[in-house]
Amino acid sequence: MVSEEKIDKFKEAARIIKSAKYLVVFTGAGISAESGVPTFRGDNGIWKKYDSNVLSLSYFIEHPEESWKAQKEFFDIILNANPNYAHIALAELEKKGILKSIVTQNIDNLHQKAGSENVFEFHGTMKTVTCINPRCMHKYKTEELDLTNLPPKCEKCGSVLKTDICFFEENPPEPAKSLSFQEASKTDVMIIVGTSGVVHPAALLPVTAKENGAKIIEINPDSSLLTIYGTTDIFLQGEAGEVMKKIMEEME
Ligand code: NAD
Ligand code: ZN
Repeated sequence: MVSEEKIDKFKEAARIIKSAKYLVVFTGAGISAESGVPTFRGDNGIWKKYDSNVLSLSYFIEHPEESWKAQKEFFDIILNANPNYAHIALAELEKKGILKSIVTQNIDNLHQKAGSENVFEFHGTMKTVTCINPRCMHKYKTEELDLTNLPPKCEKCGSVLKTDICFFEENPPEPAKSLSFQEASKTDVMIIVGTSGVVHPAALLPVTAKENGAKIIEINPDSSLLTIYGTTDIFLQGEAGEVMKKIMEEME
């Protein structure tokens, strides 16, 4: 529940957002929690069942079928997930010309499903896969693959296919990474939604924005490293949907 004492903070956040010249929103797994997509560090969901190792590159190379099993389960969830109020409100702010871009760590495509257009996918996407053979690197659409037998193999060369998400031990894909840092340098107001701030280098985006003089507004049910280390200027505690609703009401 949103408590009364936070009302002023919402008014202040709404005022800052309205007066932003270049509003950038930075999102993490938490914004999709209300769409039924599990976060990595939450209490429930598929990431309690699998070790996070299944998404490390070295594990994937040695055990592609095990890694693919977890990824397929996640892919089925996100294919059937729908954007929630928070995704939709952000798409609306872009249409109104208030929001300039979204930098997301998510790989679930829910911002795009909600109608957001200027989205930078900092950790890549699950929509496509690439053949791991460096002499081939053929790309396929994930939803067109037959995932009955895992791991899926390349039709051209027979090598294993890997989703285009950024695994642990990998660098975020380009140009998304550079463009995201450009957005963080340009913004004068950044809203952070549903991220724990522990994944690097993504967690440096709000820090970069702050160093360039931006005001940082954070929406999270619990304090994150960004709150604790003082990167955040205004902390709006609560779930993404309810907090975004309050902000949108204050902005009317
Ligand atoms: P995380 O799992 O580390 O943290 C999630 C954060 O969301 C936490 O701070 C939590 O308190 C908060 N949260 C939980 N429920 C919320 C709600 N209803 N509203 C707002 N916030 C809520 O996720 P992360 O920081 O994004 O980093 C983990 C990495 O895992 C990401 O980089 C991403 O690539 C990947 N991931 C993506 C998805 C997705 O695409 N939806 C899901 C899981 C993990
Ligand atoms: Zn190939």
